[in-house]
Amino acid sequence: MKKHIRYLFLLIFVIGCKETEVIPDKSPDLIANEHLVLGNPSNATTDINNSNNYLMEKPQYALSYSRDRGTPNWVSWHLTQDWIGSAPRQDDFRADNTLPSSWYKVSPNSYSGSGFDRGHNTPSADRTRTIEDNSATFLMTNMIPQAPNNNQQSWANLEDYTRDLVKAGNEVYVIMGSYGVGGIGSNGAKTTLDNGRVTVPSQIWKVIVVLTEGEDDLNRITTSTRVIAVNTPNTNSINSSWGSYRTTVDTIEAATGYDLLSVLPDDLEASLEDKIDAGPTQ
Ligand code: MN
Repeated sequence: MKKHIRYLFLLIFVIGCKETEVIPDKSPDLIANEHLVLGNPSNATTDINNSNNYLMEKPQYALSYSRDRGTPNWVSWHLTQDWIGSAPRQDDFRADNTLPSSWYKVSPNSYSGSGFDRGHNTPSADRTRTIEDNSATFLMTNMIPQAPNNNQQSWANLEDYTRDLVKAGNEVYVIMGSYGVGGIGSNGAKTTLDNGRVTVPSQIWKVIVVLTEGEDDLNRITTSTRVIAVNTPNTNSINSSWGSYRTTVDTIEAATGYDLLSVLPDDLEASLEDKIDAGPTQ
């Protein structure tokens, strides 16, 4: 019996060692965040001094935050059928207390009376697997001041279409961002909200990479992979049809200085980035 127990301890020891051996073999870069598979467009980092390109990685999405703008620069997330369930919309808009403690936290009331919606980057309806997942989309670090017609019409249509693609057997990688200063909401033009602490962006963009549901996603991207790039003005006079705002990834990169889809081989990246999507829009 004693011999058996000794053997058991030896076995546990060996298994324990094996685990600690395996982990260092994978550098942090190789254990990729599901939401950053296509790259980190602005080389955002978790350095607190990098206050306008501050990387935040959450289980539900990843983003680059700008302290001075009080908004994300971009938010990136992977959407598969797994993320879609029956959790109800939580509507628990709240400050993100995971920001560095000395930074101003945009509050759920920061947009009040501005004529701009608290526009989700990662949509509420993309994260309904659990209540916790849905709730995470209501953090103010996931919001931009978005003209109501942009948010509720053009953008909502694009979000619905994206989920339709997923429900039809695809998976998608989405990167959404905003830049520039000044939009036109339901109370007219504004450049900032909350006494200057939140910048109203002038342009709102999105890049969507569409793959049939499967494994080893990066290696399945080819020159014929559908990439939808959209860039819209943050105004209430926007056309509700998102398809009319399609553009190239190159155009968005030129406007923002970011490098999107940067993990792809350069030839493939270049080929995908200079095309304008001409696929269906609903
Ligand atoms: Mn690129």
